[in-house]
Amino acid sequence: MFKKQIEIPSAEQILAESPVPASLAQLKRERDRLLIDVITGRSDKLIVIVGPCSAHEPKPVLEYVDRLGKLNERVKDRLVLVPRIYTAKPRTKGVGYKGMFSQPDPEHKEDTLKGIYTIRELLLGALRESGLSAADEMLYPENFAYVEDLVSYVAIGARSSENQMHRLVSSGIELPVGIKNPMSGSIPVLINSIYAAQSPQVFKYHNWQVETNGNPYAHAVLRGRVDNYGNDIPNYHYETVMQVLEGYCATEGGLRNPAIIVDANHSNSGKRFEQQIRIVEEVLQNRQYDADFRRIVKGFMIESFLVEGCQEHDYVYGKSITDPCLGWEDTERLIYDIAEKV
Ligand code: PEP
Ligand code: MN
Repeated sequence: MFKKQIEIPSAEQILAESPVPASLAQLKRERDRLLIDVITGRSDKLIVIVGPCSAHEPKPVLEYVDRLGKLNERVKDRLVLVPRIYTAKPRTKGVGYKGMFSQPDPEHKEDTLKGIYTIRELLLGALRESGLSAADEMLYPENFAYVEDLVSYVAIGARSSENQMHRLVSSGIELPVGIKNPMSGSIPVLINSIYAAQSPQVFKYHNWQVETNGNPYAHAVLRGRVDNYGNDIPNYHYETVMQVLEGYCATEGGLRNPAIIVDANHSNSGKRFEQQIRIVEEVLQNRQYDADFRRIVKGFMIESFLVEGCQEHDYVYGKSITDPCLGWEDTERLIYDIAEKV
């Protein structure tokens, strides 16, 4: 049984109702270009996708992004800062808070229609106030259409990277799509995902059979893996990075734009959020030693919010209610450091 609760207008209707002003649409396109240039190697800046695990409340997220926008002004000749504004959260056991898209207030019941308006307002507000267009996770491929005019980077989560629909929709997105290694850590599965996303595809999307060109900017995100006993095993080291590079090169017909973003939290840090600093420093150091490593590692993903750590309920302003995050001061210091060592 599927009891109908709320009718949701199509993405086309919603985008027509709340269009992005021309100047901001132009700004977003310029930001898309900055990111694409890093992925293709035209620019040797590093991408830093940074922000809370989940955006659960607009106000602290806007305050965070505002700080990031000011910081961006100081590092933009070396880095491309992209705020994580994640509005849909995958849950390991399928229950619990699933993000602002479906639950605009984490303490209240699902209200997807309100959620869609809330996230569009948040993404637009962030772009207007900070000049930064965001990254979001495409947890539900059909929902990408509700934010496609506002985001500059799309992530495919570890629990989704083997899913056919995620791969097919990624093939039609004209933005960098970062595909995480699956929870098992399988590099062949990750490479197959990138192959599918880089290939032209024909499939049903919304109410159409659509054709895509393949997305040459689909790339790898290493987030660590979980072994058969539930232990987190890091995969940001030289050996795995080289395995991914081999996978890129060995694929028949060749994959375009070999690129890796290192996710410093999740199974790489074992969610010991403060370890993100050490992990980023180690990766930066490896970039100094090896030209191939340097060429393929094109950035970082860092979980960070105004206040460090996490909490079960939203008591402390600016503190994550999902994965634990670095606090602002550590984040700022780390970003300056990355900029220095690019
Ligand atoms: C995340 O980025 O917050 C996340 C859920 O990541 P993963 O899919 O790697 O678990
Ligand atoms: Mn997270």
